[in-house]
Amino acid sequence: MRTKVIAGNWKMHKDVSGTIDLITGIKAGLGATTPNCTVIVCPPFTSLETASTLLKNSPIKLGAQNMNPESSGAFTGEISPSMLKSVGAEYVILGHSERRTLFGESDQFINQKIKKALEAGLLPIFCIGETLQERESGVTFDILKRQVTQGLSGISEQELAKIIIAYEPVWAIGTGKTASPEQAQEVHAYIRGLAASLYSTAAAEKLIIQYGGSVKPDNAKELLSQKDIDGALVGGACLAAESFLGIINAC
Ligand code: PEP
Repeated sequence: MRTKVIAGNWKMHKDVSGTIDLITGIKAGLGATTPNCTVIVCPPFTSLETASTLLKNSPIKLGAQNMNPESSGAFTGEISPSMLKSVGAEYVILGHSERRTLFGESDQFINQKIKKALEAGLLPIFCIGETLQERESGVTFDILKRQVTQGLSGISEQELAKIIIAYEPVWAIGTGKTASPEQAQEVHAYIRGLAASLYSTAAAEKLIIQYGGSVKPDNAKELLSQKDIDGALVGGACLAAESFLGIINAC
């Protein structure tokens, strides 16, 4: 049995006071109940320390949205793996489509980041996904195969167990268009099969594969009930406690 993982990618939203409000709201909504899924919040860098303090003694985990693979040095504006660890982050989102398209991140660079995150003891949430044009040209599986094989190049089976894959069709991110549960399940089954061929059936069975792309409280249950969908990476709907809690409750 794989535990479902719900992660909120806050993107470039919420200053420190917004962070306090949102985390307080999520904690209040959960009350004394421990969710039966792993819940992760990924605020901007500037809010990580505040979030970390607020999340002490709570079941909610902390993640960052990006990092540079270098340990230190002349990389103006960048944040290293150990810096993230030092403020209490356990997870880090890597290879998000916005990083790939807006900031030109290649599969090789993402692979480097995954390796350095693991070395530092961070758990990567490794994002992959095809664009609308790629889907319409019938190359979805080829794109995903390239992203997975290059992103995980040199990663051992033991290391794979620490990685979450987030399948996020680019055409469904922030657009209100969700992949249908059947469309998403088809791709998740493909990714699991690919992991089995690259590693082993046992490793693939343990692999957490999240879906991301306009997940909302009203579509979460159907998506999360698919056999190979092990959670959600949530953008827009994680910015209000009520909608994020609605998705957590769908677990
Ligand atoms: C995301 O950016 O990871 C995402 C899934 O966004 P949204 O839920 O807004 O589509």
